[in-house]
Amino acid sequence: MRAAVLYEVGKPLAVETVELEPPRRGEVAVRIAATGVCHSDLHYIKGDLTMALPVVLGHEAAGIVDEVGEGVESVRPGDHVVLLFAPSCGRCRYCDSGRPHLCEMRYRIRGRMPDGSTRLRCRGLELNHFTCVSSWAEMAVVPEAGVLLIDKEVPLTIAALLGCAVTTGVGAVVNTARVLPGSSVAVFGTGGVGMNVVQGARVAGAAMIIAVDLLEHRLEAARRFGATHTINAKEEDPVRAVQRLTGGGADYAFEVIGRAAVIRQAVDCLARGGTAVAVGLPPTHEEYAVGGPAFVFNEKSLRACFYGSSRLRADIPRLLDLYHGKRLLLDELVTATFPLEQVNEAVAALDRGDGLRGLLVMPQ
Ligand SMILES: [Zn+2]
Ligand SMILES: [Zn+2]
Repeated sequence: MRAAVLYEVGKPLAVETVELEPPRRGEVAVRIAATGVCHSDLHYIKGDLTMALPVVLGHEAAGIVDEVGEGVESVRPGDHVVLLFAPSCGRCRYCDSGRPHLCEMRYRIRGRMPDGSTRLRCRGLELNHFTCVSSWAEMAVVPEAGVLLIDKEVPLTIAALLGCAVTTGVGAVVNTARVLPGSSVAVFGTGGVGMNVVQGARVAGAAMIIAVDLLEHRLEAARRFGATHTINAKEEDPVRAVQRLTGGGADYAFEVIGRAAVIRQAVDCLARGGTAVAVGLPPTHEEYAVGGPAFVFNEKSLRACFYGSSRLRADIPRLLDLYHGKRLLLDELVTATFPLEQVNEAVAALDRGDGLRGLLVMPQ
């Protein structure tokens, strides 16, 4: 099969023929139909975050089950599935306490399948898996715990977005922060994930949704997704602007970039008792500071959000119901599609801030 391989940080990906072993016990082979190009992938390409190379990246995807290994019960060949980049075991203390997105399995895998081996080889080299997904490829072998069966009438391009951007963005609002109806929300960074924070806040009933970005085209789009106000941080100080619009500060602020300076703005623009949520993944060297005594005197909070604090098997079907009910705009998120061979162009477009979400789409 063809796959995009990252051999060296900062270098273009090589699209080449890769050997993929058939699924072993408890594993599923999936023909990838569509896969998103997300900032988390870009971090590893640029070296902002590091992992063992070479690797096949890609963590937001949907496809069609091709083959199942022994013991697989939840899906069959021909089924449509969303791939989950935080597979959960169902047995650890995190799974048992209703937080499967923090399952111990994810902290063990480190570039491998849960059994510690790889299914990917190229030019005699073992390739690493990325989050047990590695979807920038025609096919992927993943653990059964990393696939979720969906209805065949959901377009697979839309289903792919449920693998990361939508689930993370909407989940940050409804699961991590539990935004209350009537509240004020500021969203710093309105790319693929941030735009889902905006529409998540609309679904949650926020009265004021303030989108902050540097790119005018994103601010225009944010209004269609539910922003009531927009701030171009190139033109005005976003902290002062949010405080002015909200009459003293926002109840919630979401940072969807992963920069210390922006985290500080998110905390500073809060009302007393407000909550900031770190959604963007920071580069390795970035450390967050929240301020001095005022942080305590004003009883502010900063919390992190991983994968929308989601219970994926319960949340993804709900998100699809919201999409079918036209409450979530998902078709509008896909602003460009590329064939796998153009993965480097897709990555460059993401890096430039073009559009909202770019997808690699494989002919089926
Ligand atoms: Zn992502
Ligand atoms: Zn678990």
